[in-house]
Amino acid sequence: MGIGKLYTYTSLPNVTYSAAVEQSTSPADEWQRYLDARKKVDAELAQLAGMENPLVADIFLVHQEILHDKLLTDGVRAAIDRGTSAATATQQVTSELVQLFQNLSDDYFASRSVDIRDVGQRLLAHLSGVSLTGQLAALPTGTILLAEDLTPYDATHLSPESVVGIALAGSAPTAHTAILARSLGIPLICSVGTAVLQLPPGQNAVVDGLQGRLVVEPDPELLDSYTQTRQRLLTFRVTAESHSHEPAVTLDGQRVLVHANVNSQEDMLQVAGSGADGIGLLRTEYLFQERTNPPTVAEQIDAYRLIHRQAAGEILTVRLLDIGGDKPVRYLPRIAESNPFLGVRGIRLLLQHPELLRDQLQALIALSQESGFTGVVRILVPMVSKVVEVHRVLEVLEAIPGYAEQHQPGGPLQIGVMIEVPAAALLADRLAPLVDFFSIGTNDLAQYTMAADRVNSAVASLASPLDPAVLRLIGMACQAGQMADIPVAICGEMAGDPSIFPLLFGLGVTEVSVVAPAVALVKEAVRLTDGDAARQLAEQALQADRAQEVHRLLHPQ
Ligand code: PEP
Ligand code: MG
Repeated sequence: MGIGKLYTYTSLPNVTYSAAVEQSTSPADEWQRYLDARKKVDAELAQLAGMENPLVADIFLVHQEILHDKLLTDGVRAAIDRGTSAATATQQVTSELVQLFQNLSDDYFASRSVDIRDVGQRLLAHLSGVSLTGQLAALPTGTILLAEDLTPYDATHLSPESVVGIALAGSAPTAHTAILARSLGIPLICSVGTAVLQLPPGQNAVVDGLQGRLVVEPDPELLDSYTQTRQRLLTFRVTAESHSHEPAVTLDGQRVLVHANVNSQEDMLQVAGSGADGIGLLRTEYLFQERTNPPTVAEQIDAYRLIHRQAAGEILTVRLLDIGGDKPVRYLPRIAESNPFLGVRGIRLLLQHPELLRDQLQALIALSQESGFTGVVRILVPMVSKVVEVHRVLEVLEAIPGYAEQHQPGGPLQIGVMIEVPAAALLADRLAPLVDFFSIGTNDLAQYTMAADRVNSAVASLASPLDPAVLRLIGMACQAGQMADIPVAICGEMAGDPSIFPLLFGLGVTEVSVVAPAVALVKEAVRLTDGDAARQLAEQALQADRAQEVHRLLHPQ
């Protein structure tokens, strides 16, 4: 929650461009100027890529790759050889590449066009000597920044001392700018519409990140309540972080394991100090992508062992490879699918490629058999929509030597399914007796329940995991889990919002797995939760008509 005064920011890429164009000389000199500018940008990016937060560092590693990409370099060289200035060549080639990426149907690549534009901006700034960031660097303390969008370049020049909140007309919560703002601790709301850009600068305003609202000229009473909420949130965070390594127990004495989600080896940098009780979701896709052959059993064992050693907790939950039409790997034939999310994904793909499934299962069993291994390996099956899929995985497991000995009550190996397709939630009572645990993937469960693509921002508000329809399915899975006496975890993004924990607990969720920075906050939310009150809250939420009503139950004003 940020409280301050409005300031409207317009970025100035064209200024640098025209300033640079005027200095045009011979092709050899222009190429040299380009190389000099590139060297400076490279040094800048190398420094940013060395930043401690791995999420932030990753963004600038990608920018370095773009800077040295053949498409960009060869394109600029060819344009300069045709007699164009270094600045015009940079402007033209980066604009063409931005266009090319924007037109790709894959949302992931389309969103990378911002990164290309950003690298282009950095080059132009050095070619012209004009600083784009003067405006941002000189902002007064207590600024609420309004902008159409911010590039990562802009965002790296923001200081949390002066900028207390950001409201963007466009952009998305998963954009790089949002990640950067989060790492700086600046509240940011996005997609608020272009009308905000017309607001007179200097007005008092509040960026309310809880409700996703910009409040302009609040009356003194409202301002007072925002100030108090802000203070409460800050105190909550400080208290949470001071207890992050202690167990999370509800007011009525229930221990709730708060695990971490891990997407890559680098994520472990954050997990290690987070206080996580273990790993609740290791997305193993990172081991399988960007290579020409699948990883061997031995390579996989090494990778899983490393993650388990670095995590302080006992439990290591490894999700079997969840790739499909939208995330291709080179060594599998690519099938064109018009709806990849409804296509051959997760366990469907693994059952079509039994060697991939068997190798991964074999690696996980072998890890649980190693002499130095202490703890539990939980194997998690993604995208289950039919009971028979679980039977088939169990058949493959049973054919692997050692499985039966390892998979005993209290033993080091457990099998679970992801509840992320409505069919699995509806058949949860049939699935529960077959497995040792459930993990509910609310990112997918919301998209499939609401028939709203999770990467399409036009339907983002439809796909809310707080929709009563999604909550009812979560409730069904929890009930089935309870009947079979197995743990029911949630590993979708919603679990990382501490204000949602009481609702999930009331629905019957027994464990959560969240991004590392949310571990301490969610543990603190557990400590403030009372079972009876949580169950009442869940009852009310299940009777609601829509997500907004549930949101109001969680944030009464
Ligand atoms: C989910 O669907 O909620 C989930 C945790 O898996 P992913 O986001 O990797 O699909
Ligand atoms: Mg999923």
